[in-house]
Amino acid sequence: MTRTSGYRAAVRMLAAIGAVALAAACSGNGGTTGGTTGTGQAGGYPDQNITFVVPFSAGGPTDTVTRMIADPMAAKLGGKIVVQNVEGAGGTVGAGEVARAKPDGYTVLMHHIGMSTAPALYQNLGYKPLEDFETVGLVTEVPMTIVARKDFPPATLQDLVTYVKANAGKVTLANAGIGAASHLCGLLFQTAAGVKLQEVPYEGTGPALTDLVGGQVDFMCDQTTNTSGQIAAGEVKAYAVTTPERVKSLPDVPTTAEAGLPDLKVSVWHGLYVPKGTPQDVVQKLSEALKAALADQKVIDQMAKLGTAPVPAENATPQAHRAKLEEQLRTWAKVIADAGVKAS
Ligand code: ASP
Repeated sequence: MTRTSGYRAAVRMLAAIGAVALAAACSGNGGTTGGTTGTGQAGGYPDQNITFVVPFSAGGPTDTVTRMIADPMAAKLGGKIVVQNVEGAGGTVGAGEVARAKPDGYTVLMHHIGMSTAPALYQNLGYKPLEDFETVGLVTEVPMTIVARKDFPPATLQDLVTYVKANAGKVTLANAGIGAASHLCGLLFQTAAGVKLQEVPYEGTGPALTDLVGGQVDFMCDQTTNTSGQIAAGEVKAYAVTTPERVKSLPDVPTTAEAGLPDLKVSVWHGLYVPKGTPQDVVQKLSEALKAALADQKVIDQMAKLGTAPVPAENATPQAHRAKLEEQLRTWAKVIADAGVKAS
């Protein structure tokens, strides 16, 4: 990654974007449609297993959300969904694989905010989000937490800032690769704290959290869907949640604003994609199944336990998802260009 002098000012803008992204996801505004699609028949669909590709490690936050909705979606579709982890390069390896898959509805990608940041970060991405995918629907928007190994000395977020500044050469910050949510949130933290730290990339925050619990890395910024269990069990130390309001399932964890870093605001939207050219009626079937899964009380309860919630039904549609993706691509292209951040 390279940074220019404009880096700090530009990344400070991320705070505002987090709030904007959240508002847009909840607004249910429509937008353009998915463009040209195939027109095949969904009558017999599905008549074989559907693969849901997760572009991060098993056991991490994206994997967790995917597995939550897979069974109720399969029940609605009357088929079987198999989850496959294709990790690497901040989620871009798995996304690329789905972009090149047969557009028949049997290969589906779960991805997050990284879908909108990667084109600006990677020079040879090998896929274009708007041209190579059909959007199926938004899934959830997840708050993040700043967590550390439990014996890490700082007690509060303010202490953390002071500590990392004094120990910048020694402190390690884990993430799931360039463009991952943990990477973006880590950039926000470093900007807010005015420090440059040694980043340790993993193929997902599942293994990063294992190392955090084991004390191999010092701290990271990660989604509540991954960190809630370890926070509750006291296996990691939680400094703050990155949302304007406290997270119901983590009532004792202050917001970044309460803890003294009001600019550090970000949450992570997720959506389902299929390769461009997938028949429109198949996309619709998937979207209906997604809506059914998100209305399933078991899914709602599981998400609530992990600090998140399904998007409103009107956002689990190809149109709302496409509008969100378009808006986020524009937003991040500017922020990242201004910041001069690149994948090396
Ligand atoms: N979503 C990633 C994962 O599932 C983590 C990240 O984006 O930071 O591991």
